[in-house]
Amino acid sequence: MKRFKVILLPGDGIGPEVVSEAVRVLKAVEPHLEVRFDLEEQPCGAGEYLRSGDPLPAATVEACRAADATLLGAMGLPDVRWPDGTEMVPQIDIREILDLYAGIRPIYLYHEVHCPLKGYGAGEIDFVIFRENCEGLFASRKNSYPVGALQVEDTLRITRHGAERIIRAAFEWSMKRRKKCTLVDKANVLPTMAYFRSIFDEIAREYPEVTTERVYVDAASLFLLQRPKDFDVLVTENMFGDILSDLAAGLVGGMGMAPSADIGPRHGVFQPSHGTAPSIAGKGIANPVATILSVALMLDWLGVPQGGEMIRQATARVLADPANRTADLGGALSTSGMASKIIEAL
Ligand code: ATP
Repeated sequence: MKRFKVILLPGDGIGPEVVSEAVRVLKAVEPHLEVRFDLEEQPCGAGEYLRSGDPLPAATVEACRAADATLLGAMGLPDVRWPDGTEMVPQIDIREILDLYAGIRPIYLYHEVHCPLKGYGAGEIDFVIFRENCEGLFASRKNSYPVGALQVEDTLRITRHGAERIIRAAFEWSMKRRKKCTLVDKANVLPTMAYFRSIFDEIAREYPEVTTERVYVDAASLFLLQRPKDFDVLVTENMFGDILSDLAAGLVGGMGMAPSADIGPRHGVFQPSHGTAPSIAGKGIANPVATILSVALMLDWLGVPQGGEMIRQATARVLADPANRTADLGGALSTSGMASKIIEAL
């Protein structure tokens, strides 16, 4: 029987709480599959920085590199910062080190009560954001600035290689869905974005079956609220993807409902789109659904899509009953209570 080595990086804040519940779900689905999982936890995050002085130990990176996949919780704590004031973000370092260029963020509405907009039922909001993960405006994040600086600049970097691979990945994904791909950019103002668009146009010609749309990021924020049904796959630069992912998560219940997969040529890291949510950490009330659905994405990517589908269907069955809600969705279920419901449904 095939065995997969999966590294667990629970991290900080609510990370350990949601990862342990997602692992319970993984273990519940495992006996129904023809594969087995060997799980190994590794240290990483702001807490690890406080313990060892390094938020991302080399041994942790090597373990992720050697594994078949990594399941990550969340990292960073508001009070633990580098001298320049930025937070520890080892989850972003891992993306760059392992070349996880595609940030894939499915947005799916499971029940109308989760949506702040009127008139949208289960399945009526269903799209995927492809966020470029390794360049864009985040390319500047390792730069420092001198004490007393009067001007600081960040550079938005778009390379042909980086743009081609994320755009092609988005078109490939569109082919498996409703065959529509929307570019989100700012090509009317920034030369980097005009370049990104020219590469989108080139690749679009390779996919004549896919309907394309080009939208400026400001308009995309409006259209996501006005006509979320119209979107299928959206592809965009790193920072725009970061911001629009949170907006999109808000359409389907918030950050606790938004899974993600960070995929590269060789490695995959799966994690909820949310952060460490320090204000609710340790209370046992975080919503584990985003992390559980990230496990489903991991199973798809490992070539066990029947496992991913089992988890998605069980989650859909549980969330079809509006009584099954954690506090962020207006309900009273605990983190483990929600996971237990999904396990029962499995
Ligand atoms: P980061 O910058 O690391 O992405 P953030 O500052 O954007 O983090 P999050 O930690 O994602 O913030 O939290 C944003 C909001 O969503 C907070 O109100 C938080 O409590 C809430 N939240 C995030 N994740 C969950 C969850 N799993 N369950 C319930 N609420 C959550």
